[in-house]
Amino acid sequence: MSSQHRNFIDGDWVESNSGETFENRNPADTKEVIGEYQQSTAEDAEAAIEAANEAADEWAAMPGPERGRILRKAGEILADRKEELTQTLSHEVGKTTSEAGGEVQRSIDIYAYYAAKASDFGGTVKESSSPTTHLYSQSEPVGVAGLITPWNFPIAIASWKMAPALAAGNTVVLKPASLAPGIIRELVEALEDAGIPDGVVNFVTGPGRSVGATVSSSPDVDAVSFTGSHSVGEKVRKQAVDDGKRVQLEMGGKNPTVVMPSADVDEAVDIVAGGCFGVTGEACTATSKAIVHEDVYEEFVEKMVDHVESIEVGPGLEDYDMGPHISESELDSTLDYVEIGQQEGATLETGGNRVTGDGYDDGYFVEPAVFSDVTNDMRIAQEEIFGPVLAIIPVSGFEDALRQANDVRYGLAAGLVTQDLTEAHEFANRAEAGIVKVNEKTTGLELHVPFGGFKDSSSETYREQGDAGLDFYSISRTVYMNY
Ligand code: NAD
Repeated sequence: MSSQHRNFIDGDWVESNSGETFENRNPADTKEVIGEYQQSTAEDAEAAIEAANEAADEWAAMPGPERGRILRKAGEILADRKEELTQTLSHEVGKTTSEAGGEVQRSIDIYAYYAAKASDFGGTVKESSSPTTHLYSQSEPVGVAGLITPWNFPIAIASWKMAPALAAGNTVVLKPASLAPGIIRELVEALEDAGIPDGVVNFVTGPGRSVGATVSSSPDVDAVSFTGSHSVGEKVRKQAVDDGKRVQLEMGGKNPTVVMPSADVDEAVDIVAGGCFGVTGEACTATSKAIVHEDVYEEFVEKMVDHVESIEVGPGLEDYDMGPHISESELDSTLDYVEIGQQEGATLETGGNRVTGDGYDDGYFVEPAVFSDVTNDMRIAQEEIFGPVLAIIPVSGFEDALRQANDVRYGLAAGLVTQDLTEAHEFANRAEAGIVKVNEKTTGLELHVPFGGFKDSSSETYREQGDAGLDFYSISRTVYMNY
């Protein structure tokens, strides 16, 4: 039997004033309801925003090391519960337990990292032109941060927004994606158990168009950080900017990896496949197209097909290589793109069918797919698929490969596999992407360096993670103290 869960507002677990809930089902077996969550309204979101405002001054006034102590404790609680959280995450979104465990560990590490940053938060002292002026800048929290998050890395993304926001002394209202509220509820519980004061963290589940839109447009929210699709991100940008608030958007991707003839083809296949098919292709930084030099193209296609045909698809909680899609609409979208690719004239080398049969019929399982003979103008080479589909494009040289890698509206991650140092540096300098990986898969990020995209992948305002992650949640005041 599934349990019913509540919102967290002003330190209490409360029901929505709608009196309604929505169900969350296991994507590997949709007969199973794994939780019921509040179908909240704009009024619930407003109550959370009010609580965050009331708690703001006291939290901002708490010394940084003390805020850091609470964040560190939250990280320790997550670590103590890692096994259980890993199961919850795998159950809820379908990723394998090894992928889910990696994501939970990322959250633990993020809390430890920003716990330390809470003590460093402060400012700088500079020499003044006047001998009697003490010249310094000091950082302050922005106020109330509205955080709107997607389902694909639910606990990691909520953590890499919430931990720096709290470290810098902001209070938060968090609106999770309705496909993955359960793991975020556990995160909020860890913060509660760590002693976060009432009203500092608020969690409201429900529809984006009411709860999310209230968070992004409320005059009582000072900053909005959003991660999700480009189409929703643009709405959030408009709602937030119209109200004059600070906004940060991280959105979709269509990430290329270029493979040059100096590459070891087996290694290139591992790098591209790891970036494309991990987490069922549901990563914003997933490799979605391989742009492969004609000298190694045939060998690459052949070895990629062998590799992909060895991927075992099944429930993430069991010992399979690739779990199901999160939802029917994501599954349908992948199947549609497989159809579109064939209509466009690309060659479907392998995969692309829904996986059916005993143990599969009630889940959103799909075979990983590989297309060859793709041209860069095809929709499968231009649009975000967000599923395990690889488009392979043949090219005749480095400049052509770089041009095709950049010829796309998105600019999140771009990869290159080569042994040529000149190509590596040229690519690092000229790829139009916020993350460049040479001889590494496009997915997988380190938490202490900036993360964010170019072009339609990002608002390009502020970066997330690392020291840069604190910038969005803080504002600096410069003091000229002439004594
Ligand atoms: P989505 O855009 O559908 O939803 C994201 C969040 O926005 C959800 O919480 C949703 O409820 C909320 N929302 C919906 N309508 C809203 C509105 N009108 N106002 C305010 N909020 C609203 O995205 P998704 O399907 O959850 O996630 C997948 C997408 O996220 C993909 O496009 C992926 O590339 C992107 N993503 C980007 C990054 C990155 O860092 N660039 C990371 C992960 C995922």
